[in-house]
Amino acid sequence: MTIERRVFLSRAAGCLVAAGLGARPALADSEIPDRQSDDDAVLGRLVSVTGGPRNRPVLSVTFDDGPHPTNTPALLDILRARRIRATFYVVGRNAAAWPDLLRRMVDEGHEIGNHSWSHPRLTLLGESDLLRQIDRTSEAIYKAVKKVPVTLRPPYGLLRPSQARMIHARRAMVTTLWDVDPRDWQRPGPGVVARRIVSAAHNGAIILAHDIHRPTIRAMPTALDGLSERGFHFATVSMLLGARDWSRKRFGWVTG
Ligand SMILES: [Zn+2]
Repeated sequence: MTIERRVFLSRAAGCLVAAGLGARPALADSEIPDRQSDDDAVLGRLVSVTGGPRNRPVLSVTFDDGPHPTNTPALLDILRARRIRATFYVVGRNAAAWPDLLRRMVDEGHEIGNHSWSHPRLTLLGESDLLRQIDRTSEAIYKAVKKVPVTLRPPYGLLRPSQARMIHARRAMVTTLWDVDPRDWQRPGPGVVARRIVSAAHNGAIILAHDIHRPTIRAMPTALDGLSERGFHFATVSMLLGARDWSRKRFGWVTG
């Protein structure tokens, strides 16, 4: 299936130029001089993306389906040791079960995105059920970390263009797919996963992985070090797209 894409606007790319100049490999907030005054304005122009701007060696590593009670902490240790920011597309019911892991993600500079409440095929749902999947998840995230996610990753990458437009209009969320897929869920072995990630990476890449699979965690030290050796910097998805942070706190429907 296809999802509509939007070309990045020059303002977002300009922020990325600045962000890419930070010290390797992490991007600390203080290293992003061209701060946006309104992150909503940056992300608000994007309905659906598969990658970021390609003019600088910055990419995002994303982890779906967690948090997982043992794999996710191990992954967070690996990321922290390298000062690398990642993005976690959490399943709402897992987020509700492990709120401490969400708090650790935020404390350590990562972004949390919405991956639905129970991981259904969203293309099969009507509008109210679809919004319920999203809202229950956003509410669980908000309850844990007092931040509202601004990007959505549909399970299996399945979302109709009309649904993506509706979610953008009703919840101001960017549908975020990927353009590097190591197929780690097929469990080809950590070495294969790491090689696929490092060899397929490119400027602006959004890399898909899953922190519920132990071999994926074991692949990460080699994969992340390989990406750094190729000269890539790491940003969360929202930062890759030009925002300074993923935080958004002003949705009226959040009551937590
Ligand atoms: Zn998933």
